[in-house]
Amino acid sequence: MEPTSLFSAALGLSTPWSVKDVRFDPATGRLELELGYRRGARFACPHCGAAHQPVHDTEKRQWRHLNFFQYEAYLQAKVPRVRCASCGKTAQVQVPWARANSGFTQLMEALIVTFAKAMPVAQVAQLLHVSDMRIWRVLDFYVEAARALDDQSQVKDLGLDETAARRGHDYITVVHDLEAERLVFATEGRKAEVIGRFADDLEAHGGCAENIRAVCMDMAASYRKGVETELPWAEITFDEFHIIQLVNKAVDEVRRAEVKTEARAQAHPLPVAEGQTAMESSRWRTAL
Ligand SMILES: [Zn+2]
Repeated sequence: MEPTSLFSAALGLSTPWSVKDVRFDPATGRLELELGYRRGARFACPHCGAAHQPVHDTEKRQWRHLNFFQYEAYLQAKVPRVRCASCGKTAQVQVPWARANSGFTQLMEALIVTFAKAMPVAQVAQLLHVSDMRIWRVLDFYVEAARALDDQSQVKDLGLDETAARRGHDYITVVHDLEAERLVFATEGRKAEVIGRFADDLEAHGGCAENIRAVCMDMAASYRKGVETELPWAEITFDEFHIIQLVNKAVDEVRRAEVKTEARAQAHPLPVAEGQTAMESSRWRTAL
Protein backbone atom coordinates (compact mmCIF):
# COMPACT_ATOMS: atom_id res chain seq x y z
CA MET A 1 0.00 0.00 0.00
CA GLU A 2 1.31 3.44 -0.96
CA PRO A 3 1.76 6.11 1.76
CA THR A 4 -0.90 8.22 0.00
CA SER A 5 -3.47 5.40 0.32
CA LEU A 6 -2.43 4.75 3.93
CA PHE A 7 -2.89 8.41 4.84
CA SER A 8 -6.21 8.58 2.95
CA ALA A 9 -7.43 5.68 5.09
CA ALA A 10 -5.95 7.14 8.30
CA LEU A 11 -7.73 10.47 7.67
CA GLY A 12 -10.99 8.68 6.89
CA LEU A 13 -11.23 10.34 3.46
CA SER A 14 -13.83 9.10 1.02
CA THR A 15 -14.58 9.83 -2.62
CA PRO A 16 -14.07 12.28 -4.26
CA TRP A 17 -11.27 13.27 -1.81
CA SER A 18 -7.97 11.42 -1.31
CA VAL A 19 -4.33 12.09 -0.37
CA LYS A 20 -2.39 12.83 -3.56
CA ASP A 21 1.07 13.50 -2.18
CA VAL A 22 3.00 13.07 1.07
CA ARG A 23 6.00 15.32 1.75
CA PHE A 24 8.20 15.16 4.81
CA ASP A 25 11.06 17.57 5.50
CA PRO A 26 13.30 16.21 8.32
CA ALA A 27 15.06 19.60 8.64
CA THR A 28 11.87 21.46 9.60
CA GLY A 29 10.11 18.43 11.09
CA ARG A 30 7.10 19.20 8.95
CA LEU A 31 4.77 16.66 7.35
CA GLU A 32 2.59 17.92 4.50
CA LEU A 33 -0.30 15.90 3.07
CA GLU A 34 -1.65 17.20 -0.19
CA LEU A 35 -5.30 16.36 -0.74
CA GLY A 36 -7.18 16.46 -4.02
CA TYR A 37 -10.52 15.52 -5.52
CA ARG A 38 -11.33 13.24 -8.44
CA ARG A 39 -11.29 15.04 -11.79
CA GLY A 40 -14.80 15.98 -12.89
CA ALA A 41 -16.21 15.69 -9.37
CA ARG A 42 -19.25 17.78 -8.53
CA PHE A 43 -20.09 19.29 -5.14
CA ALA A 44 -23.09 20.45 -3.14
CA CYS A 45 -23.73 24.19 -2.86
CA PRO A 46 -22.91 25.28 0.73
CA HIS A 47 -25.69 27.91 0.61
CA CYS A 48 -28.78 26.05 -0.57
CA GLY A 49 -27.53 22.44 -0.53
CA ALA A 50 -28.23 21.85 -4.25
CA ALA A 51 -26.20 18.75 -5.21
CA HIS A 52 -23.94 18.07 -8.22
CA GLN A 53 -22.73 21.61 -8.93
CA PRO A 54 -19.70 21.84 -11.29
CA VAL A 55 -16.42 23.38 -10.04
CA HIS A 56 -16.07 27.08 -10.91
CA ASP A 57 -12.50 27.63 -9.64
CA THR A 58 -10.26 26.62 -6.72
CA GLU A 59 -8.43 28.28 -3.85
CA LYS A 60 -5.37 26.85 -2.13
CA ARG A 61 -5.82 26.32 1.60
CA GLN A 62 -3.96 24.77 4.51
CA TRP A 63 -5.06 23.25 7.86
CA ARG A 64 -2.98 22.33 10.84
CA HIS A 65 -3.60 18.70 11.77
CA LEU A 66 -2.67 16.51 14.76
CA ASN A 67 1.04 15.95 15.17
CA PHE A 68 2.47 12.71 13.87
CA PHE A 69 4.70 11.88 16.83
CA GLN A 70 6.82 15.03 17.32
CA TYR A 71 6.26 16.27 13.75
CA GLU A 72 3.79 19.01 12.90
CA ALA A 73 1.35 17.89 10.22
CA TYR A 74 -0.49 20.06 7.70
CA LEU A 75 -3.19 19.23 5.18
CA GLN A 76 -3.19 21.24 1.97
CA ALA A 77 -5.77 21.30 -0.80
CA LYS A 78 -7.09 23.34 -3.67
CA VAL A 79 -10.64 23.75 -2.47
CA PRO A 80 -13.26 24.17 -5.21
CA ARG A 81 -15.82 26.95 -5.43
CA VAL A 82 -19.11 26.26 -7.12
CA ARG A 83 -21.33 28.71 -8.96
CA CYS A 84 -24.72 27.33 -8.01
CA ALA A 85 -27.26 26.87 -10.79
CA SER A 86 -30.03 26.79 -8.22
CA CYS A 87 -29.39 29.85 -5.96
CA GLY A 88 -26.93 31.69 -8.22
CA LYS A 89 -24.31 32.18 -5.48
CA THR A 90 -20.60 31.40 -5.85
CA ALA A 91 -19.11 29.81 -2.73
CA GLN A 92 -16.36 27.54 -1.46
CA VAL A 93 -17.53 23.97 -0.86
CA GLN A 94 -17.51 22.38 2.57
CA VAL A 95 -14.57 20.01 3.06
CA PRO A 96 -15.19 16.94 5.24
CA TRP A 97 -12.08 17.32 7.45
CA ALA A 98 -12.52 20.92 8.64
CA ARG A 99 -15.15 23.44 9.66
CA ALA A 100 -15.66 26.43 7.32
CA ASN A 101 -13.13 29.25 7.90
CA SER A 102 -11.04 27.24 10.36
CA GLY A 103 -7.30 26.80 9.90
CA PHE A 104 -7.41 23.54 11.88
CA THR A 105 -8.78 20.12 11.01
CA GLN A 106 -11.73 18.93 13.09
CA LEU A 107 -9.55 16.37 14.88
CA MET A 108 -7.12 19.15 15.81
CA GLU A 109 -10.00 21.27 17.10
CA ALA A 110 -11.24 18.31 19.16
CA LEU A 111 -7.77 18.04 20.70
CA ILE A 112 -7.66 21.81 21.43
CA VAL A 113 -11.05 21.69 23.19
CA THR A 114 -10.00 18.61 25.19
CA PHE A 115 -6.71 20.23 26.27
CA ALA A 116 -8.42 23.54 27.12
CA LYS A 117 -10.73 21.75 29.55
CA ALA A 118 -7.71 20.50 31.46
CA MET A 119 -5.17 23.36 31.32
CA PRO A 120 -4.86 27.14 30.73
CA VAL A 121 -5.04 28.38 27.13
CA ALA A 122 -1.47 29.76 27.26
CA GLN A 123 -0.24 26.26 28.07
CA VAL A 124 -2.29 24.69 25.23
CA ALA A 125 -0.83 27.26 22.82
CA GLN A 126 2.71 26.49 23.96
CA LEU A 127 2.18 22.73 23.75
CA LEU A 128 0.82 22.86 20.19
CA HIS A 129 3.07 25.70 18.94
CA VAL A 130 0.03 27.79 17.99
CA SER A 131 -0.76 31.38 19.02
CA ASP A 132 -3.20 31.70 21.93
CA MET A 133 -5.41 33.96 19.75
CA ARG A 134 -6.04 31.02 17.42
CA ILE A 135 -6.84 28.75 20.36
CA TRP A 136 -9.31 31.35 21.69
CA ARG A 137 -11.03 31.57 18.31
CA VAL A 138 -11.67 27.80 18.34
CA LEU A 139 -12.92 27.88 21.94
CA ASP A 140 -15.18 30.90 21.25
CA PHE A 141 -16.79 29.04 18.36
CA TYR A 142 -17.55 25.83 20.29
CA VAL A 143 -18.61 27.61 23.49
CA GLU A 144 -21.04 29.79 21.50
CA ALA A 145 -22.35 26.76 19.59
CA ALA A 146 -22.87 24.78 22.81
CA ARG A 147 -24.52 27.70 24.62
CA ALA A 148 -26.91 28.27 21.70
CA LEU A 149 -28.29 24.77 22.38
CA ASP A 150 -28.40 25.20 26.17
CA ASP A 151 -31.93 24.81 27.58
CA GLN A 152 -32.36 26.70 30.87
CA SER A 153 -36.14 26.38 31.12
CA GLN A 154 -35.85 24.23 34.27
CA VAL A 155 -33.46 26.51 36.16
CA LYS A 156 -35.06 27.45 39.51
CA ASP A 157 -32.47 27.45 42.31
CA LEU A 158 -29.31 29.47 41.93
CA GLY A 159 -25.94 29.70 43.59
CA LEU A 160 -24.37 33.12 43.08
CA ASP A 161 -20.71 33.80 43.78
CA GLU A 162 -17.76 35.91 42.79
CA THR A 163 -14.31 34.72 41.93
CA ALA A 164 -11.02 36.17 40.68
CA ALA A 165 -7.88 34.74 39.18
CA ARG A 166 -5.91 36.68 41.79
CA ARG A 167 -7.10 38.39 44.95
CA GLY A 168 -8.38 41.89 44.13
CA HIS A 169 -8.10 41.44 40.36
CA ASP A 170 -10.81 41.36 37.71
CA TYR A 171 -13.72 39.82 39.55
CA ILE A 172 -16.20 37.65 37.69
CA THR A 173 -19.62 36.52 38.84
CA VAL A 174 -20.55 32.86 38.38
CA VAL A 175 -24.12 31.55 38.52
CA HIS A 176 -24.78 27.86 39.13
CA ASP A 177 -27.96 25.84 38.75
CA LEU A 178 -27.94 24.17 42.18
CA GLU A 179 -30.38 21.44 41.17
CA ALA A 180 -28.48 20.33 38.06
CA GLU A 181 -25.14 21.19 39.72
CA ARG A 182 -23.74 23.05 36.74
CA LEU A 183 -22.51 26.49 35.73
CA VAL A 184 -25.13 28.37 33.70
CA PHE A 185 -23.67 31.86 33.46
CA ALA A 186 -20.45 33.81 34.04
CA THR A 187 -19.82 37.49 33.50
CA GLU A 188 -17.28 40.18 34.38
CA GLY A 189 -17.85 42.28 37.50
CA ARG A 190 -19.79 41.86 40.73
CA LYS A 191 -22.08 44.90 40.78
CA ALA A 192 -25.89 44.75 40.89
CA GLU A 193 -26.15 44.98 37.09
CA VAL A 194 -24.62 41.51 36.62
CA ILE A 195 -27.95 40.04 37.80
CA GLY A 196 -29.72 41.89 34.98
CA ARG A 197 -27.23 40.42 32.52
CA PHE A 198 -27.92 36.96 33.93
CA ALA A 199 -31.71 37.47 33.66
CA ASP A 200 -31.37 38.50 29.97
CA ASP A 201 -29.19 35.47 29.25
CA LEU A 202 -31.62 33.17 31.07
CA GLU A 203 -34.51 34.42 28.93
CA ALA A 204 -32.40 33.95 25.79
CA HIS A 205 -32.00 30.28 26.74
CA GLY A 206 -35.64 29.44 27.36
CA GLY A 207 -35.59 30.28 31.08
CA CYS A 208 -37.60 32.88 32.97
CA ALA A 209 -36.63 35.32 35.74
CA GLU A 210 -40.00 34.68 37.44
CA ASN A 211 -39.13 30.94 37.70
CA ILE A 212 -36.22 31.61 40.04
CA ARG A 213 -37.44 30.75 43.53
CA ALA A 214 -34.20 30.65 45.54
CA VAL A 215 -30.79 32.28 45.38
CA CYS A 216 -27.97 31.25 47.66
CA MET A 217 -25.16 33.82 47.83
CA ASP A 218 -22.74 35.80 49.98
CA MET A 219 -23.88 38.94 51.77
CA ALA A 220 -22.76 41.46 49.16
CA ALA A 221 -25.24 44.36 49.08
CA SER A 222 -24.82 44.66 45.28
CA TYR A 223 -26.00 41.08 44.68
CA ARG A 224 -28.94 41.54 47.04
CA LYS A 225 -30.00 44.71 45.22
CA GLY A 226 -29.68 43.02 41.83
CA VAL A 227 -31.66 39.95 42.88
CA GLU A 228 -34.44 42.03 44.44
CA THR A 229 -34.82 44.02 41.22
CA GLU A 230 -34.34 41.32 38.58
CA LEU A 231 -35.54 38.08 40.20
CA PRO A 232 -38.76 39.16 41.94
CA TRP A 233 -39.83 35.76 43.34
CA ALA A 234 -36.45 34.63 44.56
CA GLU A 235 -35.93 33.97 48.25
CA ILE A 236 -32.41 34.91 49.30
CA THR A 237 -30.37 32.68 51.57
CA PHE A 238 -26.81 33.37 52.64
CA ASP A 239 -24.62 30.39 52.08
CA GLU A 240 -23.15 28.49 55.00
CA PHE A 241 -19.57 29.06 53.86
CA HIS A 242 -19.85 32.85 54.10
CA ILE A 243 -21.76 32.75 57.41
CA ILE A 244 -19.12 30.49 58.98
CA GLN A 245 -16.40 32.71 57.54
CA LEU A 246 -18.01 35.73 59.26
CA VAL A 247 -18.45 33.89 62.57
CA ASN A 248 -14.81 32.75 62.46
CA LYS A 249 -13.70 36.32 61.76
CA ALA A 250 -15.76 37.66 64.67
CA VAL A 251 -14.42 34.99 67.06
CA ASP A 252 -10.89 35.76 65.87
CA GLU A 253 -11.34 39.51 66.51
CA VAL A 254 -12.56 38.83 70.06
CA ARG A 255 -9.63 36.47 70.64
CA ARG A 256 -7.12 39.08 69.43
CA ALA A 257 -8.70 41.74 71.63
CA GLU A 258 -8.50 39.40 74.63
CA VAL A 259 -4.84 38.61 73.96
CA LYS A 260 -4.01 42.34 73.74
CA THR A 261 -5.87 43.09 76.95
CA GLU A 262 -4.13 40.22 78.73
CA ALA A 263 -0.73 41.42 77.55
CA ARG A 264 -1.50 44.95 78.77
CA ALA A 265 -2.77 43.69 82.09
CA GLN A 266 0.39 41.64 82.59
CA ALA A 267 2.63 44.62 81.74
CA HIS A 268 0.74 46.93 84.11
CA PRO A 269 -1.01 44.69 86.62
CA LEU A 270 -3.85 46.19 88.58
CA PRO A 271 -4.02 45.22 92.17
CA VAL A 272 -6.19 42.15 92.43
CA ALA A 273 -8.94 42.66 94.94
CA GLU A 274 -9.70 39.98 97.45
CA GLY A 275 -11.87 37.26 95.92
CA GLN A 276 -11.17 38.44 92.33
CA THR A 277 -9.10 36.53 89.76
CA ALA A 278 -6.54 38.24 87.48
CA MET A 279 -8.84 37.57 84.48
CA GLU A 280 -11.73 39.32 86.20
CA SER A 281 -9.43 42.20 87.03
CA SER A 282 -8.42 42.57 83.37
CA ARG A 283 -12.10 42.51 82.32
CA TRP A 284 -12.74 45.38 84.70
CA ARG A 285 -9.86 47.24 83.12
CA THR A 286 -11.34 46.67 79.63
CA ALA A 287 -14.75 47.79 80.81
CA LEU A 288 -13.30 50.93 82.30
ZN1 LIG B 1 -27.05 27.13 -4.10
